[in-house]
Amino acid sequence: MDIKNLTEEELKQKLCALRDKINYHNYLYYVKDTPDISDKQYDELFRELQRLETENPELITFDSPTQRIGAVSSEKFEQVTHKYPLFSLDNANGSEELLEWNNRIRKTYPEPEKIEFVCELKIDGLAITLSYQNGKFTKGATRGDGKTGENISANLKTINSIPLSLFAPENREIPEYIEARGEIYMPISSFEKLNEKRKNAGEQEFANPRNAGSGSVRQLNPKITRERDLDIFVYAGIFEDHLKPSTHWETIELLRQLGFKTNPTSKLCQNINEVIDYCNLWNEKRFGLNYATDGVVVKVNDLHKQEELGFTSRSPRWAIAYKFSPEEALTKLVNIEMSVGRTGAITPIAHLEPVKLAGTVVKRASLHNADEIKRLDIRIGDKVWVKKAAEIIPKIIGVDLKARNPEAMPFEYPEKCPACDTPLEKKEEEVAYYCPNQTGCPAQVKGRLEHWVSRDAMDVDGVGESLIKQLTEKNMINGPADLYALTVEDILSLERTAEKSAYNAINAIEASKTRPFSRLINAFGIKHIGKETAELLSQHFHSIEELKNVKIEDLSLIEGIGEKAAESIVNFFKNSDVIKMLEKLGKYGVKLYGEKPEITGEQPLLNKSFVLTGTLKYMNRNEASDIIKKLGGKVSGSLGKNTDYLIVGENPGSKYDKATKLNVKILNEDEFLKLASF
Ligand code: NAD
Repeated sequence: MDIKNLTEEELKQKLCALRDKINYHNYLYYVKDTPDISDKQYDELFRELQRLETENPELITFDSPTQRIGAVSSEKFEQVTHKYPLFSLDNANGSEELLEWNNRIRKTYPEPEKIEFVCELKIDGLAITLSYQNGKFTKGATRGDGKTGENISANLKTINSIPLSLFAPENREIPEYIEARGEIYMPISSFEKLNEKRKNAGEQEFANPRNAGSGSVRQLNPKITRERDLDIFVYAGIFEDHLKPSTHWETIELLRQLGFKTNPTSKLCQNINEVIDYCNLWNEKRFGLNYATDGVVVKVNDLHKQEELGFTSRSPRWAIAYKFSPEEALTKLVNIEMSVGRTGAITPIAHLEPVKLAGTVVKRASLHNADEIKRLDIRIGDKVWVKKAAEIIPKIIGVDLKARNPEAMPFEYPEKCPACDTPLEKKEEEVAYYCPNQTGCPAQVKGRLEHWVSRDAMDVDGVGESLIKQLTEKNMINGPADLYALTVEDILSLERTAEKSAYNAINAIEASKTRPFSRLINAFGIKHIGKETAELLSQHFHSIEELKNVKIEDLSLIEGIGEKAAESIVNFFKNSDVIKMLEKLGKYGVKLYGEKPEITGEQPLLNKSFVLTGTLKYMNRNEASDIIKKLGGKVSGSLGKNTDYLIVGENPGSKYDKATKLNVKILNEDEFLKLASF
């Protein structure tokens, strides 16, 4: 729509709608940590608003997102009024816009005056400010709307790289008051592990490391923050005394001496051309880092010049954020393959014409499920846009419809399993289709066996993919238990197998019989149960017999095991094929139990039965359960007449009322601790 044809009223309405939309996305991004559009889409909306407002300055409102920073803080936290406001940054897309920014600065400082710049990687995390009085940490807060942020001190204290006491710098005292500003982030490796854990527990995965990092500090339990492996880079400091540095570069050095973690990739540049070189270099090199960056922050080095250049309503004139080129590429969709996982779930995989993206060559991308294919209306032969989601997993984000061959047909999702021809099924509440033929589908059998022998499971070194393929194709094995009946002769009967490798395989199979219990649980490949949840289960249950009898209520007591995971465990051990497999495993001498921790010392809670409800202050439920069990007590998920105590945390559920009715003794956390320490 050409805005020149709009009446003033229509233009006002358009601006209002655009502001509402941006404010809504700000709320999702800054307050809820759950954006539902990409940063690129958001930036396009923001730039559109900026453009319309520049062309019609009389229509700018004081509360327009272009005049404000971030979003209002969440009410969950105590509000902190910042002593010194925090700002946002103007963006530069490409070197042209960097040169324009330099030209604006040059108006104040014409050539030949020297202007130095500091280039810092723009970490894609959460901006925070840390206050120190006489070298001691006093408060930490989020940026919020720049004037008021959220007090998240308790959570920040759990991050090891944030100093609680400062070191004395060289040749000077520790300043009386300082503020350090930095970005909290979650390393990419930790983000991947966390998402794996959440997926296995049936919890919603974080969209990217930024949301994961922000979500981990902007929640109310410091224990969760501690477990999340967060880190910080400090990139600014405010010093009030007369010894304050005169350049940004010196500020960073002083912060480093005080004990803050600063980013070693930063560079002092002598002119704007060196800045452009730095931006180009890191545009390529960024993919080797273990943290997400979305650009380079360029700052005028001289603090006096910074003061003279000053600020607009939302950002400094002396700094700019150079945005890295988006990690998207256009390529051709060659085919869609249906991959059958070991749980029977069907995942469509896109085969692409190889294309360079985010430092690697991409040939395949996940299409997730049938709904996604329908949503994209993707067709074989289409030109498609590929993006590295959170810089990690390639994803197809769109189709270039203009380039579509008019004869391309809509993709028909298969109705039968590509591996065994069994009609596919779909549960109402799930998006994926499944092949229900668990025992007969060769793809599932092979997948389960590959998982069983893998390093984190039974670690059967010597039995690899190709041996499994031969054994299953010859119908010599049909599941993990059959492995233990194999002989050297069986393996030698296969084509191209040497005696040595046959002996190695049998020895490795034998050695795997006594793997720790957690690995056995992981090896089953139960839906929603990964390595970490298996470890957790092995701490609470010490034999297959215990797991066979477990109830959903008991599992729901364990922090880290979600509803879906609990249901999946119970269903798995009820399955008749699983029961047969367990019998066979036992017969072949596979160890189906773990070590029970020995109970030593006094047992004041002997034979007392406990139920927990609500959120505890000092510990999580697993820790409370451990204390009870160590002291001889039992923990159950369901409350009944035989329950001795109900331990009640914050926001207790219906168990509280039930306990009152049943006359079960109710303890708060302090009373429980008193009882436990007798
Ligand atoms: P910004 O891009 O304007 O940059 C300012 C922030 O950069 C600082 O607050 C700080 O957090 C960070 N930063 C990282 N390294 C730094 C360094 N070395 N020096 C100084 N600052 C550094 O940030 P903003 O105003 O929080 O957010 C704007 C951006 O956020 C948008 O461009 C968009 O990409 C994204 N966003 C996305 C959505 C969405 O729905 N997808 C919504 C809102 C914002």
